[in-house]
Amino acid sequence: MALTNKDRRYLQRGVKWCYIGNDLTICKKKTCCICKGPIEPQRTPDGAVFWADGHNADPIAEGSCCDICNAEQVIPARMEAIE
Ligand SMILES: [Zn+2]
Repeated sequence: MALTNKDRRYLQRGVKWCYIGNDLTICKKKTCCICKGPIEPQRTPDGAVFWADGHNADPIAEGSCCDICNAEQVIPARMEAIE
């Protein structure tokens, strides 16, 4: 699968993106440092992986976390830190 211009825009948006393999297929999943579950790679609408690193788990933990922990724990913790 070749990179389309749309895919390139997605790639440029990430500060630290990660794509594995020339065809943007993912060969391994990272582990969430909060729940220890797999971090699902983010995909473009076309199904190409453009980010496989999860979310920054700060201030809950050090490392990367999954979508669920990010939404349920990390974001609320950050909100609290602001208040
Ligand atoms: Zn998690």
